[in-house]
Amino acid sequence: MRPARPEWALVRVGRVVFSSSEDLTRVVRAKVVAAETALVSCVTAAAEGLFATLFPGDCRLCGTPLIKISRLPVCQDCLLAMRPMEGSRCALCGERLSGPYRMPSPDGEAICGLCRESEPAFMKAAAYGSYEGGLRDLIHLLKYEHMRPAAQVLGRMLAEVVSVLAPSFHGGEPVVVPVPLHASKLRQRGFNQVELITRAALKLKPAGLELALHPEVLERGRPTASQTGLSIHQRRENMRGAFAVLRPDLVRERDVLLVDDVMTTGTTVSECARVLRRAGANRVWVATVARTLKHEVTFAVPERSADDEEVRMAMAAHG
Ligand SMILES: [Zn+2]
Ligand SMILES: [Zn+2]
Repeated sequence: MRPARPEWALVRVGRVVFSSSEDLTRVVRAKVVAAETALVSCVTAAAEGLFATLFPGDCRLCGTPLIKISRLPVCQDCLLAMRPMEGSRCALCGERLSGPYRMPSPDGEAICGLCRESEPAFMKAAAYGSYEGGLRDLIHLLKYEHMRPAAQVLGRMLAEVVSVLAPSFHGGEPVVVPVPLHASKLRQRGFNQVELITRAALKLKPAGLELALHPEVLERGRPTASQTGLSIHQRRENMRGAFAVLRPDLVRERDVLLVDDVMTTGTTVSECARVLRRAGANRVWVATVARTLKHEVTFAVPERSADDEEVRMAMAAHG
């Protein structure tokens, strides 16, 4: 690209000798147009440069060129596609239930086979959306590409989950505890994405609800191996002893709203709920932005066959 002509180029026009005033007018007009064009292209280039500095030109999720300046390089269509989960879900853990596997609890609510087998340590876990597609990509943008503005969008989703859970708080305001990262992971990432999302959500909490955030309550005492590819039993073993309550005084005889970004099989939040209750917490609710929905068939089988070792181990380990 040619360097843009500076604005002062026009000044030199006055020193040129012209044959007639008409010529002068014509030449000046031409120079003004040229200078304006140069100025416009200069400003446009600067704006484009700023635009490109703020974010690359395409939506990071679908690749569509972005038309609006935003701190989050995600297009409106992708954001609108991140819808809340639909369909029947377990009243306790939020797992998706499909028709033949639905089992009513004594109070008539549908619960999954896993929760029926072994009651979870938490009262109820609720999530905004299914952990797939754009929602999963958005969480990854925050966690792995450190795109912090994503926390605002995820926080809005979490705030909706808190609104859904709020009526069951029965006027008692729970202490809000984000699931912590291990210190080494926190150093490496520079922030706990769950805490960022929780802070964004609490700004949008339902009116009249006082929710105090206490990230200092829980500590992840040892780094946990990646849970990917582990059975629910192995996940539970992996998590055992991973969390410690550093401030039991803050949760003793209090209700707790535990927050995480993603609930996979529920082993992380179950372990946190377990140690919180052991430290004296009354009831623990769980709010997550996303939830994986893939176990409804595996774990809600109406009849377990003797050779289905994985399912039996998972059932025994849950709760
Ligand atoms: Zn997009
Ligand atoms: Zn369940």
